[in-house]
Amino acid sequence: MKIATVQAGSETMHGVVVDDTLVDLRDSYADSVAILEAVSGGSGDEVVAAMTSSPRIDLASVAFLPPVLALKRILCVGTNYAEHVAESPSVTEAPDHPMIFTRFASSLVGHGQPLVRPPESEAFDYEGELAIVIGRTTRRATRENALDAVGGYSCFMDGSIRDWQRHTKQFTPGKNYDKSGSWGPWITTGDEVGDPYALHLRSLVDGEEMQSAATTQLIFDLEAILVYCSTFTTLEPGDVIATGTPGGVGFARTPPVFLAPGREITVDIPGVGRLTNSVIDEE
Ligand code: MG
Repeated sequence: MKIATVQAGSETMHGVVVDDTLVDLRDSYADSVAILEAVSGGSGDEVVAAMTSSPRIDLASVAFLPPVLALKRILCVGTNYAEHVAESPSVTEAPDHPMIFTRFASSLVGHGQPLVRPPESEAFDYEGELAIVIGRTTRRATRENALDAVGGYSCFMDGSIRDWQRHTKQFTPGKNYDKSGSWGPWITTGDEVGDPYALHLRSLVDGEEMQSAATTQLIFDLEAILVYCSTFTTLEPGDVIATGTPGGVGFARTPPVFLAPGREITVDIPGVGRLTNSVIDEE
């Protein structure tokens, strides 16, 4: 099941994507997180039943928004693929623990919405990632039950203003410029994804492949990330954890490849989704 939130004219809708339509489930569920919780809690049949009597809207007539609007937690794992560790000047070896930083909801847009390059920097870089979306409230998960916390998966573009990321050892400013990242187009539920270690991630700039990796290459796997994060914070339905980017980001290329107006970035994870955004300069 693909759970999405969209803008249709002046209305915000949430529901399930079927073919080229959104089944509008506003009458049955308060928001996209309520649908995700229902599916994660074993009530997927009730969602399917609600879908039979709900209106549909053509996706061509709507704009995708971030799949969850009222985000409580956006956790991101840094340097979680060996090739990216090797190309990152600030990191000399893989860390002993997952390197966690956070993003604000205001730093993220949905599929198809423009990313905004700020006037302070031209070092606007892409990072394609697989995101976990939490489906069940979880604290102190164990490796054995960690994946039970997962409601679904999404594509994530951890857009980074590199010079601002490296002003100090703290990533927060360079990872949180308004509208500098994206995720979506939807959350594909865990039952539909199946084995998350059978996934393959690619990033493309203007259609040219820049990053390509299997999720089996993660240094800290999904269980390790969930165990670590749920130890210090209660993970709640709708929380997002971006799991890290593979090698091939723009700053490490010769010459560098940065995002600029007229360029398009795509994060493609077959079985999860394909997230594409164009780039504009801040007005
Ligand atoms: Mg990242």
